[in-house]
Amino acid sequence: MRNTISILGVQIDAVTREEAGKITENLIKQSNKSCKMIFAPNVEFIMYAQKDKEFFDILKQSSLSTPDSIGVIIGAKLQGKTFPERIPGQSYFRKVIELSNEKGYSIYLLGGEPGIAEKTKENLEKIFPNVNIIGYHHGYFNENEEKEVISEINKLKPNVLFVALGAPKQEKWIYKHRNELKVDVATGQGGTYDYEAGKIKRAPVWIQKIGMEWFWRLCREPKRIKRQLVLPIYLIKVLFKKDKTKGKFDI
Ligand code: UDP
Repeated sequence: MRNTISILGVQIDAVTREEAGKITENLIKQSNKSCKMIFAPNVEFIMYAQKDKEFFDILKQSSLSTPDSIGVIIGAKLQGKTFPERIPGQSYFRKVIELSNEKGYSIYLLGGEPGIAEKTKENLEKIFPNVNIIGYHHGYFNENEEKEVISEINKLKPNVLFVALGAPKQEKWIYKHRNELKVDVATGQGGTYDYEAGKIKRAPVWIQKIGMEWFWRLCREPKRIKRQLVLPIYLIKVLFKKDKTKGKFDI
């Protein structure tokens, strides 16, 4: 049975990175190409889901949802609950890459600007010589190209399909095509390839550790401010809805 924490109705699994890896492996073993969906909700997801019922319902149907951001960790704390750790998108991605390197699981990288998924594959192969990335395609395709991309994926039948089209586009894309995609697991990856390909630099580890990566990213990409303005509204909403009998905020 899944151990999840609900934040404004979005269920997120209270798991460590290691456990998320194990669950992914189990899904790969049991899926039989039935496209199990794995998402990584952050505050923007949760807030967007409040106004977009379709997105809200899609998130509900995941087989695993990992706690992606510090806002999710704080949201749980405000309700007296604790996630064992935060699992940033790239950290989950690397876990699956490690598993592929060790056990041969096949991977397809969809999304990002032209050249980015290819560069991601190249860079990963330098670090993980046995990683099994069997295909890639950029994320700027029209309807006709989309058919070709899906048919290529279905020919290759990867264990894991990473989809990096930005949220909520990637989750909606996976959901829309889940019945035609012959993959074991499909998961939304946001801007992970941009980091892996070296297009964007991640925050230094100490900034990641104190949960300020969002601020670092904001300084480098000020246009993200609009997306981050939802944070105070989110905190108020969570506080307002919390079950006041359980625990207190102690982060
Ligand atoms: N992207 C894409 N196709 C699109 C829109 C976006 O491939 O139609 C890619 C974009 O190049 C970027 C990623 O999706 O690599 C979105 O990154 P963002 O930083 O917005 O995602 P986040 O991690 O914030 O969810």
